[in-house]
Amino acid sequence: MKDVIEVAVVGGGPTGLMLACELALAGIAVTVFERRAEPVQQSRALTLHPRSLEVLALRGWEGPFLERGKPLPTGHFGMLDTRLDFSALDTTFKFTLFISQAVTEALLEERARSLGVDIRRGYEVRELLQDDEGVDLAGSASGRAFRCRARYVVGADGARSIVRQLAGIGFVGTDTSVTAMLGDVVLSAPPSTPAFSTINTRGGIMIVPLSPGIHRVILFDPERMQAPVKESVTLDELRRSVTRVCGTDLGMRDPQWLSRFGNETRIAETYKSGRVLLAGDAAHIHFPAGGQGLNVGLQDAMNLGWKLAGVLRDRAPLSLLDSYHRERYPVGNALTRNTEAQTALMGCSPSVLALRDMLSGFLKDPALNRSLAERLGAMDVVYPDLEMPAPRFEGELVTALTGKRLPDLELKLLDGAVRRLYSFMHEGKWLLLRLRGGDGPDVPQGWTNVVQARPDDDREELRGLSGLLIRPDGHVGWAWA
Ligand SMILES: Cc1cc2nc3c(=O)[nH]c(=O)nc-3n(C[C@H](O)[C@H](O)[C@H](O)COP(=O)(O)OP(=O)(O)OC[C@H]3O[C@@H](n4cnc5c(N)ncnc54)[C@H](O)[C@@H]3O)c2cc1C
Repeated sequence: MKDVIEVAVVGGGPTGLMLACELALAGIAVTVFERRAEPVQQSRALTLHPRSLEVLALRGWEGPFLERGKPLPTGHFGMLDTRLDFSALDTTFKFTLFISQAVTEALLEERARSLGVDIRRGYEVRELLQDDEGVDLAGSASGRAFRCRARYVVGADGARSIVRQLAGIGFVGTDTSVTAMLGDVVLSAPPSTPAFSTINTRGGIMIVPLSPGIHRVILFDPERMQAPVKESVTLDELRRSVTRVCGTDLGMRDPQWLSRFGNETRIAETYKSGRVLLAGDAAHIHFPAGGQGLNVGLQDAMNLGWKLAGVLRDRAPLSLLDSYHRERYPVGNALTRNTEAQTALMGCSPSVLALRDMLSGFLKDPALNRSLAERLGAMDVVYPDLEMPAPRFEGELVTALTGKRLPDLELKLLDGAVRRLYSFMHEGKWLLLRLRGGDGPDVPQGWTNVVQARPDDDREELRGLSGLLIRPDGHVGWAWA
């Protein structure tokens, strides 16, 4: 007898776990199939950018992440000398949070379990067949075969996604042409600055403290950049390259993790095929520059969760699910483009070094710096057209704000109390924010909270508005004057 489940998420990495949390919050029965029996100990990603922190705060989950991470007010684009200033952003999180992927995944898994998600570790999905009503999955768990049927399947199973392959979705892009090295090592003579990076004619290096006594060293050595991704990195190789770039091996020893990664860059030609959806690395891969992949995965999950739940609970038309591809594919595409640009900037020929100097100079301009920080931190993502009819409301529709994210505004309620906007969005529902009294709009009951309040600050973009209908992911659905 096969299990029949509402949503099967394949892959219990950050994307799959975040999506499972969103679905469970909306009351959907969700099962995560994760082939690893135990969580991974190494951490690829080390950053949560401002929009990811906002996404967590929209559900009231940011606390444990902030407790375990370390805020850094700056980030980097292509390791340029002038760093990106996150403190200039219009958000309560004016920093990037330095936090290991292992901790992020552990916290998400804990949250998912507390919401009742069925997480099946040691389950590897190997077969997938969909029809009009559902999707059959089959695979192996501890050497024994398992089968199940789900109404929808989400492939959050990373770069080599079997879900993507079995659904016949193309992964379009370019092969690896350069590789870099990573070492989590003890340094007896680390640099004095907490986030050190330099590029010169001999190569580039970035060093950040990882955990007490351990540093992450990332290296771009022109003499080793043609080494295949699959070739293991040795401590001697890393030491020789570090010495070439820095003139010293920084007292490197006791590696905890050595790895090589490359710039293969691809995007799924569609994020949805029938009842199969893709999110995170299953949908887009790129050179890990600027610390964005995990962040974009979390944000894919945030965009998809409420839509899938809405369709499953008959609160929304099927077409809402199509908007997932329409809204998130351009974000994935922009991500692949910006990481390609960063990869080009990580060269060390005299012409690239000259270009780097020039761009570093430009980034001293606060407006340019802020614009790039917004892009890297995903604060500039706008969803201009949900392609759903606007609910009827007495006021006139204003499109300037449509699809933009709202920061966690301070709101003054009718009784004079002050509360933050995101505190009304913890349940994952739409929010009708009435800025003036009056009737309407006609919003889906049970899927929308209603609050009458006005922003405590006089924000220009909200002047003259009578109401906003805010999507569960914190972007404006519609605004009325
Ligand atoms: C060196 C390096 C540094 C990085 N630094 C950053 C950073 O600072 N910031 C950032 O945002 N991103 C960073 N990234 C990228 C980030 O690690 C990934 O984007 C992120 O892990 C993607 O999450 P995911 O959940 O989509 O996929 P994954 O983390 O790959 O998770 C997929 C999961 O699916 C499981 N799985 C796979 N196949 C199956 C199957 N058939 N059945 C069941 N389960 C399956 C896997 O075991 C895995 O647990 C970095 C990447 C690298 C390589």
